[in-house]
Amino acid sequence: MCILLRIITALLEIETQGCRLPVLRKNQENEDEWPLAEILSVKEIPGRKLYYVHYIDFNKRLDEWVTPDRLDMKKLQFPKKEAKTPTKNGLPGSRPSSPESEVVRVAGAGPQHTPSRPPQPQAQQKSIPTKTSLPDFQNGTARRPMPNQPGRKRKQPPNCGGTDEDSQDSSDGIPSTPRMTGSLVSDRSHDDIVTRMKNIDCIELGRHRLKPWYFSPYPQELTTLPILYLCEFCLKYLKSLKCLQRHLTKCNLRHPPGNEIYRKGTISFFEIDGRKNKTYSQNLCLLAKCFLDHKTLYYDTDPFLFYVMTEYDAKGFHIVGYFSKEKESTEDYNVACILTLPPYQRRGYGKLLIEFSYELSKVEGKTGTPEKPLSDLGLLSYRSYWSQTILEILMDLKPDNGERPQITINDISEITSVKKEDVISTLQYLNLINYYKGQYILTLSEDIVEGHERAMQKRHLRIDSKCLHFTPKDWSKRGKW
Ligand SMILES: [Zn+2]
Repeated sequence: MCILLRIITALLEIETQGCRLPVLRKNQENEDEWPLAEILSVKEIPGRKLYYVHYIDFNKRLDEWVTPDRLDMKKLQFPKKEAKTPTKNGLPGSRPSSPESEVVRVAGAGPQHTPSRPPQPQAQQKSIPTKTSLPDFQNGTARRPMPNQPGRKRKQPPNCGGTDEDSQDSSDGIPSTPRMTGSLVSDRSHDDIVTRMKNIDCIELGRHRLKPWYFSPYPQELTTLPILYLCEFCLKYLKSLKCLQRHLTKCNLRHPPGNEIYRKGTISFFEIDGRKNKTYSQNLCLLAKCFLDHKTLYYDTDPFLFYVMTEYDAKGFHIVGYFSKEKESTEDYNVACILTLPPYQRRGYGKLLIEFSYELSKVEGKTGTPEKPLSDLGLLSYRSYWSQTILEILMDLKPDNGERPQITINDISEITSVKKEDVISTLQYLNLINYYKGQYILTLSEDIVEGHERAMQKRHLRIDSKCLHFTPKDWSKRGKW
């Protein structure tokens, strides 16, 4: 009996990763609830064990480390068998033979009663075979060396990374390059467990402290820090406040690199070439990845332009958000990734970024669309932007000799640079299209008109095309970027 129990607890120990069970959390009303969650990882810190849980059917941003007392071990479900993850000793996992999830009821076999196991720092390095979209990279190993700048290193004071040059460099063993794990995986079914867990606790960026939502491949040595410090102008990452302060005495940037192509009031946009300002672009991608989960992150920043929106004060041009854009897109994409940093969210900046992306398309004389899939927040912002933009045009139409005004989908698309498909989906979403006597008719109800007017009154931040100084380049004629 004793032996049997020990075997069971040992099994539980091995198998908790990947298991599902109810986990106690507080809902928005601060009430207890027990949603089902999957255990992604286990770690031991002095005196206690922590479990990283992913709440099934919840927003992934809520995933977190929890203490054992919040786990309902009595309702533990073992993972289904198809995931064949070898155990550390190379033997196949000791999963139950039934392919069905199994509810195991082992009273008193909670994790607090199980024998302790050494902590698992290797969980971060565990390489699960994954297919990558780029052949140059494989599981955590960069086959293609990141561009360093040889001969530009200077002697550094001990225990502080960084040079004053345009490089994310280090002399104390912290790799100068981010990890190449996972985020390059384009097929979600091969997602590495590491990349499903947020790994940075807190980022200090200028006067803001940001709580990341998702994994970002910062060097692993930095993931154990309580706070990761970023230079808010060059986005270089540093491991301590002291290092940041030392960096700031040498960093002369007070705005993003590249050309300022727009300024109105305190809002500016800078255009950054991913090839010319590679380090900045990579550091921007690392920061953005903390808040974007759905996109493949490209370390090969060469084919992209980055448009960084800033807000100016006496200290400099502070980053608010950005979007990236392929220099050449065969699919009419005018935005690849787009992000408003959390401290600036829900204040109209997201829509300003979107509006700016279409202003660029207008200058280029093209229609454009954001790369799919959009995040939940991204889709909301785009839907709202498209709706307002299209309604603005429809409501400005004047009757034509007493007749109903007429406009084609093509006209709307050309005026706004919004791709035809997005115009159609927006008209459908707003439920404006009616088919009447062999014709399509757009009907604007009182509700729609009033709702639109209210929304536009709240939209204070707008792009002024007169303040844009932008000449599009024909990248196809430039040979290699
Ligand atoms: Zn800096």
